[in-house]
Amino acid sequence: MIKAVVVSISGIVQGVGYRPFIHRTAIKYKVNGFVANKGGEVFIHAEGDEASVEAFLDFIMQNYPSGANILSIQAMDDKPMGAGKFEIMDSMEDNQSAVGIPVDMGMCDDCANDMSNPESRYYKYPLTSCTKCGPRLTIVRKLPYDRCNTAMEPFQLCSECEAEFKNPADRRYHAQTICCPHCGPEIKLTDRSGNVIGGDPFENAGEMLKKGMILGVKGIGGYHIICDAKNSEAVLNLRERKKREYKPLAVMFKDIDAAEKHCNISSYEREILLNQQKPIVLLSRKNTSDLSEMVNPGLKKLGAMLPYSGVHYLLFDAQIEALVATSGNISGLPLVTGDEDAKEYIGGVVDAFIMHNREIVTPCDDSVVSVIDGQMHMIRRARGYAPIPIILRKARSLVLACGSDFKNTFCMAKNGRAYVSQHIGDFDRYETLQVQKEIKAGYESLLNFKPELAACDMHPDYRTTQYAEGLGIPVIRVQHHHAHIASVLAENDYEQEAIGVALDGTGYGNDGTVWGGEFLIASLDGYERVGHFKNAAMPGGEAAALETWRMAGAYLHDAYGEEMHDLGIRCIEELKSKNWEVLLRSTQTGLNSLKTSSAGRLFDAVSAILGICFRNGYEGQAAAELEAIADSGVSDIYGFDITENEPLTVDFNRTIKGIVTDLKSGAGLGRISGKFHNTVAGVVLEMCMIIRKKRNLDVVALSGGVFQNRLLLEKVLRALKQEEFIVMTNSAVPCNDGGISLGQAAIAARKELGTNGSL
Ligand code: ZN
Ligand code: ZN
Ligand code: FE
Repeated sequence: MIKAVVVSISGIVQGVGYRPFIHRTAIKYKVNGFVANKGGEVFIHAEGDEASVEAFLDFIMQNYPSGANILSIQAMDDKPMGAGKFEIMDSMEDNQSAVGIPVDMGMCDDCANDMSNPESRYYKYPLTSCTKCGPRLTIVRKLPYDRCNTAMEPFQLCSECEAEFKNPADRRYHAQTICCPHCGPEIKLTDRSGNVIGGDPFENAGEMLKKGMILGVKGIGGYHIICDAKNSEAVLNLRERKKREYKPLAVMFKDIDAAEKHCNISSYEREILLNQQKPIVLLSRKNTSDLSEMVNPGLKKLGAMLPYSGVHYLLFDAQIEALVATSGNISGLPLVTGDEDAKEYIGGVVDAFIMHNREIVTPCDDSVVSVIDGQMHMIRRARGYAPIPIILRKARSLVLACGSDFKNTFCMAKNGRAYVSQHIGDFDRYETLQVQKEIKAGYESLLNFKPELAACDMHPDYRTTQYAEGLGIPVIRVQHHHAHIASVLAENDYEQEAIGVALDGTGYGNDGTVWGGEFLIASLDGYERVGHFKNAAMPGGEAAALETWRMAGAYLHDAYGEEMHDLGIRCIEELKSKNWEVLLRSTQTGLNSLKTSSAGRLFDAVSAILGICFRNGYEGQAAAELEAIADSGVSDIYGFDITENEPLTVDFNRTIKGIVTDLKSGAGLGRISGKFHNTVAGVVLEMCMIIRKKRNLDVVALSGGVFQNRLLLEKVLRALKQEEFIVMTNSAVPCNDGGISLGQAAIAARKELGTNGSL
């Protein structure tokens, strides 16, 4: 008997070689019919004798191409159509279906081999790709993912490329990005104004790098600024020109062996470095590494990645082991993608450019991940990961969540899925806002999305808040730390209440103070603030987030009063030189009375009290340097106090006094830092124990930017698990503000709109 089925597969299924894979499978199992891209899904009609169709279904339920990320496979019986063969059909338009936007994939080994094989027609052609690799999100204008809808559209296939495109046995069969030196985009080396430099572009570029020159290189999602990572003069020069004093720079290693020479790499970290997404992985640098100290000053952590575009592979032909590869922008401005913009914005930073004429449709930075306690944690979610959707159960409305003003991402919720955009940037710059509008317009077209409901932060001055308010649709304002915790609940698909611990830098509280050391009882439907760090003065307001000595002064004054001036530690000298007394009086008279429960500011204060860092040259510098020097083997802990009544308030005065006493008695900074990390972990544990007892909850959700601190997160996880708490963390989205949009969307999507579209 002839059996017929239709199958629809959703997720990341287009641009990963799914149709050729289905075609090969159909031929193997002797079934007829067709496969097509439909909207964002793969759609299959298969028919044949019953056993063959069953075997075919079994196989495709359990196997898929390497780049695919499957959300669902649905199969239903259908009427036979008398097909005589199995074919790949052109794409079918369908705007209603749930969509998977394809993600960018690093060059596969086969393509890299083609590029290094003098016999291959792709020899030294860096823009080659196949169904298993190459750019996707960054070149697609609309779905379905077909060449005519991508930046490859202007490049007509030559006869050889066309033959490969049509040959089912070829790796580039139906590869929408197929191209070669004859028909594809061209590579050129230019000076900083865009004038072409003759000769072999990569040989010349290699020579320049060896001389310590700085190059702007067009990659997949934007330009990189690169130089030899072993040449301190070049690295310093790059920092100076890019106006990036201390912030660590990412390093691209020639290959995994080179990375292993300079960094300690676990087997899981190795796997992530080598995977197709090719993210930056935060590794610990070996003491023997001879990379320039200016790559990651004051830190052990090093952001490392491997080459992922053909251009990178060819650059490493020049006997270079490691390149600084940092985003192509001037500090604070958006990533440069256009060739004209490159000349205008980073022409002054670089000595030369490697360009090509394949347009970057959507900017996408490198993703950054960190492995903590055996699990991958996203620090910056962008190339290769965004916008793989996250399942949102009970999503009732179409939500646009506008995210935070810092590390901005937005999130669109549709048909039970949340699409979090790639990392966009900070909205203190007007240019970032413009870029965000363009990226958002792109997503709206790719997802055929029109929001019914907006979500945003509660901060009245956030540009994202103002944007949401201006949309003319109902707006849900979500408290910042509720959003952080909701992002954990959403990505762990947790529907109940949990103890939410948000250790964060800055978030708008609903009581006029700045929150950031928060203990909530939270679900996706609401929250209650059951505890927090005791409020500390923020002398000078927002300036206290930049200048850490201000918070040190506030904490020392709270602990010691006027006696602080006689402590005789270096931090006091620093405070005196800053005219601290005047500032102190202004906080006491209420002129300058902003208060904060922020955990980030506590870390800043301790870093300054120890004399490690008096000013955050980049976000989180003081805390990162405090973590970097910590002796992780220390098991002692400082004292602290928790009030008996709710909201439970944590007072760190005994901690501060303990730190000063240790400092004065000559205990090493590493020891004090380790002890301080133990104390914060101890506070989290103690608070969770108290809340568990009162409320009978033993599930804990951890989030907020302070948990990017690997040592702290490890200590907190260990402590909570030892006491048999069930602990959830962020993994797919960052625990920093990059994850806020998911939390906002998850909360808002549960609200049901009335028939007239209002809340
Ligand atoms: Zn490939
Ligand atoms: Zn060609
Ligand atoms: Fe935050």
